Amino acid sequence: MIGQGSDNIKGMAGAYQHALGSHLSRSEIMQLFYLLADEYMGWTKTRVHLEPDYLIPIEKLSLFREALVRLLKHEPVEYITGKSMFNGIEYFVNPGVLIPRPETEELCNMIVQDQSADKYKEVAALDIGTGSGCIAIDLKLRLPYARVTAVDNSEDALKTAGQNASRLGAELSLTHLNVLDASAHGKLGRFDIIVSNPPYVTAGERNVMKPNVLDFEPPDAIFVCDDDPFIFYRSIVTLAIHHLNRPGRIYLEINERFGKEIAKILRDSGFDKVEIVRDIFDKDRFVRASLVSRLEDISYWYGE
Ligand code: GLN
Repeated sequence: MIGQGSDNIKGMAGAYQHALGSHLSRSEIMQLFYLLADEYMGWTKTRVHLEPDYLIPIEKLSLFREALVRLLKHEPVEYITGKSMFNGIEYFVNPGVLIPRPETEELCNMIVQDQSADKYKEVAALDIGTGSGCIAIDLKLRLPYARVTAVDNSEDALKTAGQNASRLGAELSLTHLNVLDASAHGKLGRFDIIVSNPPYVTAGERNVMKPNVLDFEPPDAIFVCDDDPFIFYRSIVTLAIHHLNRPGRIYLEINERFGKEIAKILRDSGFDKVEIVRDIFDKDRFVRASLVSRLEDISYWYGE
């Protein structure tokens, strides 16, 4: 059995190194081990190093061993612990929701920064395809006067987002919505900010994705078909035309390959100040744009 005979901390950490060493570095393995030591025993990293000879209680031994079996199958540690960090805050995650990515933290940071002069304004924000709820909740926690609505097509995701929101004390309005169904958009109100991290990895890119993503994360949250990679962006933009206040802003996370195309969709739909923004990895990762009030903008005058 994996990890057999390794019933103290040092032995278990050694079993992890031995079993996972072929596909992860020593320090990556230790990071995983620290996370699990915290999760199963409430131990800090320091305590792991201070008490290497501590005998792991039998019921905890089986937790460490089961986790190792799951890690060997490339299951993300976040699904093993059921938790993931986003902008320094812990969120519940499960295989029904995408594990929050660091790029998406930047998306939220950009919005909060843009709002810094209007921090106490009662803006209305909409997060489309909320998943774990991390974007919507992060915004609500950092812009407490905002009224935040989060929508998703997955009832499971909405449940997880709701659990995260109540645990973190973030008041959200959660609504089921398939953004691709324009006839359902009418159930939403109007917003000053619309944000989305929709599925944007093309099926053709599957071959460059790792098994931890491919085998475990919800494909509906990640993939779009090769022949219509902008399907979500077009629907989001249609929704925004009718539900964004003027002035109003849209923030989209994008596939690094399609910045120009998505910027064009926005420009062609009447958005101004369309900007492609790079992420920490220096990839074109976001598009930000504004709708301003204009005489010729019919939907503004008719309040559609
Ligand atoms: N960036 C995510 C990934 O690398 C995909 C997220 C998305 O499609 N919106 O898997």
